[in-house]
Amino acid sequence: MSNAIIQVKNLVKKYGDFEAVKGISFEVMEGEIFGLLGPNGAGKTTTLEIIETLRKKTSGQVIVDGKDLEKEPQAIKNVIGVQLQAAGYYPNLNLKQIIDLFAGLYNKTADPMALLDLVNLREKAKSKFKELSGGQKQRFSIATTLINEPKIIFLDEPTTGLDPQARRNLWELIKQLRDRGATVVLTTHYMDEAEELCERVAIVDSGEIIALSTPNELIDKLLATGFKRTKAVKEASLEDVFLNMTGREWREG
Ligand code: ATP
Repeated sequence: MSNAIIQVKNLVKKYGDFEAVKGISFEVMEGEIFGLLGPNGAGKTTTLEIIETLRKKTSGQVIVDGKDLEKEPQAIKNVIGVQLQAAGYYPNLNLKQIIDLFAGLYNKTADPMALLDLVNLREKAKSKFKELSGGQKQRFSIATTLINEPKIIFLDEPTTGLDPQARRNLWELIKQLRDRGATVVLTTHYMDEAEELCERVAIVDSGEIIALSTPNELIDKLLATGFKRTKAVKEASLEDVFLNMTGREWREG
């Protein structure tokens, strides 16, 4: 039985009179890929950013790796990896220099080339962030989550805007991170992605968790109600056509 590395109890977040997160509770197990799913405005990013110590909660308790968010936010920061939106703020630094800069801020010695290798960006080491394509920027932002060798990695919509090959490439990378022992918490609007990657998912709607289970159990539960797809499913999809025509192998766009 694995340990709960994140425990969220009765978490509430109010923005003025509006309750964006309405007393949710859930646990993330060490070593799993956990997905937060839900419509726009459900409260996913708010929940993630509270756990990441980036937003203040209104009430409730959050424990990360045994540390209470209220008492030891800095200790939590030390064990988590968050995508650094700030990378774009350094227009004159190249990727290697940005990694060195953040490693310095974390007081860690990073191996920039090893991190860039991991996300297939070695040949872009001397390029500036603004010179990268959308997919390359996404991959670089994932590399930046790894600088402080975190136990838990948070990814907010990591594959939004990527082409089908690049998405698959990122799925492999996310699985690799999990296989190396990290716990991954992600949000996504792509249900195929959640089904492929997540051991368990929580479905959030209007600030409440309305389901929490493995994708398989959730699907079986729906089927048990007698649910049938209205449209017959063909053996292949348009995505299969796309991948078949443009090549399933990872390539640069
Ligand atoms: P999306 O899928 O669109 O990213 P989300 O599930 O991540 O949505 P949040 O960004 O957490 O949703 O927003 C939850 C609700 O809280 C929304 O109604 C949003 O308008 C509101 N909200 C978020 N941030 C603020 C803020 N700083 N001030 C006021 N309201 C906010």
